Amino acid sequence: MLAQWGEAERKLTDRVSVLVGANNGQYPSGNTLLVRGEGESIVIDPSIDVIERGGVPVAIDAVLNSHSHEDHMACNGFFKDARIHIHDDDLPGAKSIDGLMDVYGFEGTLRTQFQDTVLETFHYTPRDDALGFSDGHVFDLGGVKVEAVHLPGHTRGHSGFRISDDVFFLSDIDLTGFGPYYGDVWSDLEDFEESLRRVREEEAAWYVTFHHKGVIEGRQRFLEMIDAFHAVIDRRHQAMLKFLAEPRSLEEMANHRFIYRPGVQLNFAYDVEKRSARFHLDRMLSRGEASEVEPGRYLRS
Ligand SMILES: [Zn+2]
Repeated sequence: MLAQWGEAERKLTDRVSVLVGANNGQYPSGNTLLVRGEGESIVIDPSIDVIERGGVPVAIDAVLNSHSHEDHMACNGFFKDARIHIHDDDLPGAKSIDGLMDVYGFEGTLRTQFQDTVLETFHYTPRDDALGFSDGHVFDLGGVKVEAVHLPGHTRGHSGFRISDDVFFLSDIDLTGFGPYYGDVWSDLEDFEESLRRVREEEAAWYVTFHHKGVIEGRQRFLEMIDAFHAVIDRRHQAMLKFLAEPRSLEEMANHRFIYRPGVQLNFAYDVEKRSARFHLDRMLSRGEASEVEPGRYLRS
């Protein structure tokens, strides 16, 4: 299953290429990393584009998943003879569809609907043989090393990869204007911010995101982008505090929308808004910025 990518293969070094997805890796597509070693070659987060193009330019020994989200695991069945590696904490999402659905935390019809999408659009294939790794694990491919860097918050096991000092794969710390996504049951705002602080220290010549932004050249540009990305969290926080000028419930916060724009039609938007607002509300309560003035209603201090 070899396929040439032509201009869509962007070579960063002799060993590392970005396989740029449709529309610059806009969801449901993504930007896949291909690392050619002397001993083994691997892909990191092979997207649905890999299947649509019929493969990648070289034989693949292993697939690294940065985390268990549908768009990052699209080829776990396509590369059926390759090993699958994912952080220990996200293993359940690679091993079974039920495990994956628990990561999102959707219930009822939302769960059924999204399960169909994951199976049809994203070719989800359970891999009971998937292997776990932990922070700092090094994959030595021969002439090039890939080190896992645990960056939780988006999911529990979300990880970046440092590739022989030149390239850093950021995955879904995607540096978009939308800002950090911490709306799943397996997300955590505090962990996400800690991961942002940690990844900011990374020195690389190229930083690669799975969606939109793709390849970012140079540390200076990276710092500007990650600081802007990080600032979205406080912007949401301040907007929510302003909304609590009168007593409001969590449900009212979710309906008002602080993550998605009001016009965005997504069947899971309410759930995501509610979980995200809960994180900010907990932060306000712990900081003394707001209080519960009657059961289930919150007012800023
Ligand atoms: Zn994700």
